[in-house]
Amino acid sequence: MTVMTQSKRKSLGSLAALLACALLVCVWAQNASAQSRADRQLLARAESISGDRFQVQGSTPQGVRVVAVTRPRAETLRAIDDGFTSLFAVARRHGYRQRLDYSAYTVFIALADRTKDSQGGYSPDLAVPAGQYAGSGYDQGGYIYAAGMVLAYNPSSFIIAEHDGNTQRISDIVRYEGEHIILYYNDRALYQRTADHSRGGGHPILQ
Ligand SMILES: [Zn+2]
Repeated sequence: MTVMTQSKRKSLGSLAALLACALLVCVWAQNASAQSRADRQLLARAESISGDRFQVQGSTPQGVRVVAVTRPRAETLRAIDDGFTSLFAVARRHGYRQRLDYSAYTVFIALADRTKDSQGGYSPDLAVPAGQYAGSGYDQGGYIYAAGMVLAYNPSSFIIAEHDGNTQRISDIVRYEGEHIILYYNDRALYQRTADHSRGGGHPILQ
């Protein structure tokens, strides 16, 4: 009887395991197809804004997904993690709980459209459509130079330019672009007041 119960339990157990497995496979497949649809839209948006083809994909040591034109240097990946680490720290100080995990983010690294600002300082930036900045002091004739730009809130993603130096600047851009996403999920009113810099305001938003 003991043996029978055990073997019955065992077979029930393995049936349960099989079902769980099948369910898991099913959920995985659904996620994969939803993911790839969102991914395709995100990639299309990144390509249309930057004019680049993104060929490389990987992740930082902390698990931020990175999509790039050329293989990022290890220092770049660490700088991205550092930017998120300081962003999450300041977000926690404000009592925020949403989107405080590295793996929730995708960072696109595009080719820089300029590497120096108007003062000659090292400043790898992207030329992006002027949008609401048209006619403002930022407008360069239909486009503006931006250090970074949010691409999507869900999946959470932004784009920055490739740097070959000044990794602190990479960390700062990550922290700043990430602020918009963190605010979107944690304080929608503050997000709305701070999302559009053409009406003034800049970064850091969270002190
Ligand atoms: Zn901003």
